Amino acid sequence: MSDAQRAALERVALAMAGRGWAVFPIMPNRKWPPAWHRKDTCPGRGPCAAEHVTPESLATTDPETITRVWATAPYNVAVFPGKSGWHVIDCDVRKPDEPAGPDGWEELQALAAVRGGPLPYTWTTSTPSGGRQLWYPVPPGVRLGSTVKWIAGHVDTRGWGGYALAPGSVREDGAYELLDDTDGPPLPGWLIQASVKLPPAGNSGRTEKAVAAPSAYAAKAVRAECDRVAAAPSGQRNKALSTAAYALGQLVGARLLDKDYARAELRAAVAAWNTPDSAVKDDGVIETALAAGEGNPRRITPRQGTRRAA
Ligand SMILES: [Zn+2]
Repeated sequence: MSDAQRAALERVALAMAGRGWAVFPIMPNRKWPPAWHRKDTCPGRGPCAAEHVTPESLATTDPETITRVWATAPYNVAVFPGKSGWHVIDCDVRKPDEPAGPDGWEELQALAAVRGGPLPYTWTTSTPSGGRQLWYPVPPGVRLGSTVKWIAGHVDTRGWGGYALAPGSVREDGAYELLDDTDGPPLPGWLIQASVKLPPAGNSGRTEKAVAAPSAYAAKAVRAECDRVAAAPSGQRNKALSTAAYALGQLVGARLLDKDYARAELRAAVAAWNTPDSAVKDDGVIETALAAGEGNPRRITPRQGTRRAA
């Protein structure tokens, strides 16, 4: 590989770091492995003197470190989204030996339609195999891991514990490319909910209730309340948020809506205000008003579409 290509990848690494994304070098022309030892071959020296450290913990936005590392080889650029406050929805293509059916991108769009959630345009990359990866900022206070074939058969997610290659990275079969350089809104609540991998039932003493997809009625109410929150002018945000959270809390109390879902959607709506400094206060308003509404459950007639007689 020419020095021009090495220099290009160094620029990619610096550009990703400039977006606040923690990067780590991957062996040239590969998507794996990282230019780092594995735990089972840990020499126990240097950064690992106390204990083995992972590429994720070493991933950095520091330009000096990046310049030093990428000066030595044309490393591909891994971004660790969890550490960077982002989440990557990774839509794969179907393998040649798979029967005909939807690919990951089609599965994701179908899922968005079923959940009644938006699938906003956002920063998107293509993979050499023809897949696409959607990069969304994660709302404050939300921590997401990574999943494999969890939200759909050809859709993985990359949060904490996962990484994705930056556009400009190359493999033998092609390059990762930037399809859309628009920075999208925070990860929609329905996608947060879909990306949460719950522990298997019966594996712990606690009862982990699966988060139910809301009914069409509840989903519509959530969208309407969250739209009002997101659109509230700055002087009326506190009131709008507490009103919306109370209304959704009433649906939670009536067992029409999952509380985690309501909370995630409200947080995503608040994130549209783009004032991260007030996130703690906003979370407090959400919790208080949700709980208050929960204590005064909404009474809904069957006509409004909750539960039909079987
Ligand atoms: Zn080590």
